[in-house]
Amino acid sequence: MMSVLLLNTTYEPMYVVSLRRAVTLVLQNKAHLVECLERSVRSPSLTLPEPSVIRLHGRAPVARQRALPLSRTAILARDAYTCQYCGLALPAGRLTIDHVLPQSRGGGWSWTNLVAACPACNAIKADRTPQEAGMALLRPPGKPIGVQAALLHDAQRNPAWRPYLWTN
Ligand SMILES: [Zn+2]
Repeated sequence: MMSVLLLNTTYEPMYVVSLRRAVTLVLQNKAHLVECLERSVRSPSLTLPEPSVIRLHGRAPVARQRALPLSRTAILARDAYTCQYCGLALPAGRLTIDHVLPQSRGGGWSWTNLVAACPACNAIKADRTPQEAGMALLRPPGKPIGVQAALLHDAQRNPAWRPYLWTN
């Protein structure tokens, strides 16, 4: 079953809804398409590009913004199981967590200081900052906003969602 990311008016992720529900919201003019897939949804009366991300019009019921607990799994999911230095995608078990500012320099266990790294990059970087090591991050690590771990996993299958799921 395809799922669709529902954003509120300020582009914050609210819920994941079924494709059917998303199409209904669009047809009722309660939401509009933000990101679509290349295929279409057909009904006897119309054809609509299949939505991947939709945005509500007007005021939406306020979703409780559940904080996503910081964990190794959550960091890896946020980073799409991809080394944030070289871009290599690896299974979770083969990735390491790198402290951007090393622990030895006071770098903490936080959303903005932890990234997924392949063992090679982690070893090369060692106890240095990315700048000292001459290694650039693919993107600055951010804290996911208002989403649950499950949603992050869904984001792997739905690359179009990723820009909406966390702040940089
Ligand atoms: Zn790497």
